[in-house]
Amino acid sequence: MSLNQNFSLNRMERYLSIAWDSGARPVIVLTKADLCEDLAQAVSQVEAISCFSDILTLSMFDEVICDKFAPYFAKGQTCAFIGSSGVGKSTFINCLLGAQVISTQEIGKGDKGRHTTTGREMFPCPLGGVVIDTPGMREMGAESADLSQPFGEIGDLARRCRFRDCTHTNEPGCAVLAAVEQGRLDQRRLESYRKLEHESSYDGLSSKEVEVKKAERMFKEVGGIKQARRFAKEHYQRKQGKFPGGGM
Ligand code: GDP
Ligand code: ZN
Repeated sequence: MSLNQNFSLNRMERYLSIAWDSGARPVIVLTKADLCEDLAQAVSQVEAISCFSDILTLSMFDEVICDKFAPYFAKGQTCAFIGSSGVGKSTFINCLLGAQVISTQEIGKGDKGRHTTTGREMFPCPLGGVVIDTPGMREMGAESADLSQPFGEIGDLARRCRFRDCTHTNEPGCAVLAAVEQGRLDQRRLESYRKLEHESSYDGLSSKEVEVKKAERMFKEVGGIKQARRFAKEHYQRKQGKFPGGGM
């Protein structure tokens, strides 16, 4: 996320939820630090919702950026970027790769005339790791979002609600609403949580159903979970020397 107009805690919460759901470890990169008037304040706002993710600030005018980022792009690491268009992802990736691999966009001109990647692209990074640029991942809905990590404190509060299926809207004995009332939880944060929860296709599902849905999505490209199970079974049998079809 960039530290100018694009800066939004709600958006950051959205991205964190998506990242956690994917199984990746989110790292927060705040770009365009040169355009930010109060860097310390912006960082502390993000810190409050970061759920222990590392936060790094960056400006394209920084002399050395690679030192700071080296551990994240070291051998064995695979990094994918999510963030709105125009926040400086391409600029950052080019800098990491030490070459103009991806063309950056001129502000105000949108994506016109820009080299746009249609598929996934994977670049070996001189720091040792691998960088993945996936245009499809740049703007994302929160259809698959894991809210338990980035909104951990709401989950903790919810366990103290009087009703197990409390929606934290108007129920008596709601610990979440009580926390908002007492100023221990931001109203903004609760609203952001509600919005993402509503968008999420996991909304209203049990944890078992969520797992099934996640697995379905994960294996969609290979024809769904059933196909993947069959493949795994065959692979296992092959390893055991038993070929499916009973030939051996
Ligand atoms: P992307 O769409 O996220 O890949 O964004 P780009 O890398 O194409 O950057 C969009 C615009 O922001 C370009 O004009 C960049 O020159 C500019 N930009 C990128 N990083 C910075 C930065 O740190 N500071 C400033 N002031 N501008 C930046
Ligand atoms: Zn409640």
